[in-house]
Amino acid sequence: MRYVSTRGSAPALDFAGVTLAGLAPDGGLFVPEQWPRFSHEEIAALRGLPYATLAARIMQPFVGDCLTPERLQELCEEAYGRFAHVAVTPLTQLDERNWLLELFHGPTLAFKDVALQLLGLLFEEFLALEDRALTVVGATSGDTGSAAIDALANRDRVEIFMLHPAGRVSDVQRVQMTTVLAPNVHNVAIDGDFDTAQAMVKRLFSDRDVTSAINIGAVNSINWARLMAQVVYYFAAALQLGAPERKIAFSVPTGNFGDVFAGYVAAQMGLPIERLVVATNINDILFRALSDGDYSAGTVTPTAAPSMDIQVSSNFERLLFDLGDRDGAALAAQMAGFEQTRAMRLTNAQRDGASALFCTARADADDMAQAMRWAWEECDCEAIDPHTAVGLHAARMLEWSNDVPVVTLATAHPAKFRDAVERATGYRPSLPPRVGDIFAREERFTSLSGGYEDVRKFVLDTAIYRA
Ligand SMILES: *Cc1c(COP(=O)(O)O)cnc(C)c1O
Repeated sequence: MRYVSTRGSAPALDFAGVTLAGLAPDGGLFVPEQWPRFSHEEIAALRGLPYATLAARIMQPFVGDCLTPERLQELCEEAYGRFAHVAVTPLTQLDERNWLLELFHGPTLAFKDVALQLLGLLFEEFLALEDRALTVVGATSGDTGSAAIDALANRDRVEIFMLHPAGRVSDVQRVQMTTVLAPNVHNVAIDGDFDTAQAMVKRLFSDRDVTSAINIGAVNSINWARLMAQVVYYFAAALQLGAPERKIAFSVPTGNFGDVFAGYVAAQMGLPIERLVVATNINDILFRALSDGDYSAGTVTPTAAPSMDIQVSSNFERLLFDLGDRDGAALAAQMAGFEQTRAMRLTNAQRDGASALFCTARADADDMAQAMRWAWEECDCEAIDPHTAVGLHAARMLEWSNDVPVVTLATAHPAKFRDAVERATGYRPSLPPRVGDIFAREERFTSLSGGYEDVRKFVLDTAIYRA
């Protein structure tokens, strides 16, 4: 399998190449040259497989020759063996129509573990084959940072610098990052908000002094391997609910359009999906884009679902590319316009293409609190986190034809956002035992307040590996 850039002018790479590269050199994102397709019979034959085996089967066409099927299976067993539930991503029924797909049984309590546990192993594997090292640099509003640090701590040939906005991540999120004392983990608290941290990371990636000194890599969801790993649980859930004989709908709490794009990929591969609901909070650029074609970025308003407090959804570009006949030059021009003005209109072809599969809804603070209360009061004390609540609100408010099961992706454990859950329901979820005594452990991080030059110097002085 070869991968091409959404902006049409970067050389095609294989799976190992795109895993280590992250962003394409022309500023685009990598997508497979074509979607692998499974027939009805092939999908039916996937029923009942253990999660790791299902994962290896779904991912093999994307990995191509870069790993043998046996090696891919081993890596999946290792990655998913670290989950606290045998089903890895179990389903829970809420009422006759609604189900939750629990994606939070990994080490750091959010769905990002599903992809990042595997990505850590893929980095180690491909870096050993190529005999080189990677310095991962990222910014986080909380969940990506903790999941990436857990996945990369103590791995060979890779180190990670993770920037978080000082004082603006939850206590649980902070200690999940800062109590990891592995020598290849460098936590940095930035004086500013998430956008400040994110802008610094972007500058590091285009700073020649940095890119010539270290071999810089990315773990955010622009990395194709993450999306690929997320395709698997759409299959796992749909197979349990009767696919391929029956169509299933999914409601996905969305920020960067990564998780829901994985659902789109599953549909392209042949999984019968009735609808994909793009559920946003009041940071609603995707809601506006899909409901009336207006993709324009405002300023971020903080909500109780901080991992979705995003104005520019990087992965949306992958959908626009696929819906626009994969015309990289045309998309490069459209995106250049957006980057200048922070606004663009979707073309009619993009709008029509999107409306064939996607629908959208948005939730404000009241909607989120109500969804949390409904699950708690009407569904046998089911505690859901505020991100999941955005998805559940959308699932319950849209109209569905008679017998379609609607699966809301439960993207975080309620204890990870226990203050918000307690405010809505009166119940304070406790951290599962696997998290251990993180609040009693030593924390280590570097606080930097002097702006970009400070961060750059810290990275260059501290990095263990050199290009
Ligand atoms: C990251 C995150 C999301 C949003 O996922 P995207 O792939 O960015 O759309 C939703 N919920 C939680 C808990 C998250 O951590």
